[in-house]
Amino acid sequence: MTIDFQAVLERIAAEMTPLAGRSGTVASYIPALARVPAAHFGLALRTREGLEASAGDANVPFSIQSISKLFTLTLAMRRMGDDLWERIGREPSGNPFNSLVQLEYEQGKPRNPFINAGAIAIADRLLGHGETKAELLQLMSDLCDEPIEFDAEVAASEASTGYRNFALANFMKSFGKLDNDVDDVLDFYFHQCAIRMSCLQLARAAGFLCRDGAHPQDGRGEVTSERHARRINALMLTCGTYDAAGDVAFSIGLPCKSGVGGGIVAVVPDQLTLCVWSPALDASGNSYLGMLALERFAASTGLSIF
Ligand code: GLU
Repeated sequence: MTIDFQAVLERIAAEMTPLAGRSGTVASYIPALARVPAAHFGLALRTREGLEASAGDANVPFSIQSISKLFTLTLAMRRMGDDLWERIGREPSGNPFNSLVQLEYEQGKPRNPFINAGAIAIADRLLGHGETKAELLQLMSDLCDEPIEFDAEVAASEASTGYRNFALANFMKSFGKLDNDVDDVLDFYFHQCAIRMSCLQLARAAGFLCRDGAHPQDGRGEVTSERHARRINALMLTCGTYDAAGDVAFSIGLPCKSGVGGGIVAVVPDQLTLCVWSPALDASGNSYLGMLALERFAASTGLSIF
C-alpha cells in the first residue's frame, strides 16, 4: 500500500493547529525559550528515497535543544567506536534528565548519552578529539543541505542560567570523568543545544537513521555505519524521550529524540524520518502536541517498529 504522506500530515496539522498552545507549558528555565509563542505546530517527513512532505509551521526554525544530542552521539561514535562506552552507559535513567543524584551513586558515569550529564560527557570526548563548534554546524548544514546557525541569544541565556549543567559538569570533573576544562565543555554543549533548525531541516538531517547510516543526500557516502545507525535508533527508543520512553514505545512505537524547545525527531527504520514541533511541553518535558501528533501518525499509517 502506498501512503499519501502529504495528506496524512495535512490531516494531522489540521487537527493539532487549533489546539496549539492550549495544553502544556513552554520551557521557562531557559529565559530565551520562555519567550517563544506556544501556539505553533509543524511537522515534516522525508522518506528513505528522498520524498518530502510537510504541514503547518514545518519551515519555522526553533531551538533544537536535546535533539542535538543524537547528532553529537553520532559524531562521537564515529570518532571513538566502542571506547565511547567506557565513560557513558546505555540504560534508561528513570530519573529527570538533569538529575544529580544518579551521577553521585554511579561515580560520575552518566546512565546514557541523552540525559544532560551524558551529553556533556560526549561534548568533552568530542573536544578531546579536536571537534569544534564550527565543525558541528558544518555537519548539520551538510546533512540538511542548507546553512544552519546557532542562536547566540539562546546559547548566552543557557550559559547564564545553566546552574545545574555546571553542577553536573563539575561533578563529573571531580570524579576525573571530564578531560577538558568545564567552561569549554559547557560552551560546546550550550551551543549544540542552541542550534536553530526547522522540522523539515531536521527530518532531512536525521535521514541517515532510516538509511542504514547512509548520508541523507545521495552520493555523499555514509554518515555512520549501519551498526551504529541501528544502535542510535535503539538508544532513541529506550532513552530518547526523558522519563516517558516506556510510554512512547507503548503508544507510538518509534525511536524518538525530543528537546525542551518542543521538537521531536522520530525514525521509522528503513522507511522515513519525521520531525514534529510544538513548543508547549507535557509534564515529562516532551512536546504535548508533538506526542499526540506522533501517536496519530503511527495509528493512521500503521508505521511502527512493533
Ligand atoms: N539545553 C537544555 C539543558 O541543558 C537541554 C535540555 C533538553 O532539551 O532536554 O537543560
